Amino acid sequence: MIIDKHKVVSVSYELHVDNNGTQVLIDKSQEGQPLLFLFGVGQMIPGFERNLQGLKAGDVYDFVVQPSEGYGEHSLDDVIDLPADVFKVDGEIDLSIVKIGNIVPLRDNQGHTFEAKILEVSTHHVKVDLNHELAGKSLNFKGKVESVRSATAEELDHGHAHGHGGVHHH
Ligand SMILES: [Zn+2]
Repeated sequence: MIIDKHKVVSVSYELHVDNNGTQVLIDKSQEGQPLLFLFGVGQMIPGFERNLQGLKAGDVYDFVVQPSEGYGEHSLDDVIDLPADVFKVDGEIDLSIVKIGNIVPLRDNQGHTFEAKILEVSTHHVKVDLNHELAGKSLNFKGKVESVRSATAEELDHGHAHGHGGVHHH
């Protein structure tokens, strides 16, 4: 059986990105705990799925996903100054959290949460980068296809894969 829409796929993987000429390991699956997902429902970045499509259990893969099919280009529109008040808790900024290089969770007035990387902190403003940490990066995925099976009706109904042995992770 090959990887295609509505198959439940498990793969081991390593993700490396290029950082000024050095390949840096960003993420990897743990031994015996492959990434399990329902294929073709938009859970994964497009380039990851496109490169896996058509592979079968036992196949090894090694491919690079460009930002356009990954986490997007790094956009300067998403580098913004926020009022320092946004970061105040009980009238004060916790400088151990709001410090340059840290990634902090924020919530907009619709209740969506997102992550902001702190670039600058001044008395009245905090400059943050709202781009995904991997925006603008070429992503090198390599690993092995561990299994491919058809999704159950319940999995299709829920829009996600259920774990090995029928364990229901939500
Ligand atoms: Zn479910």
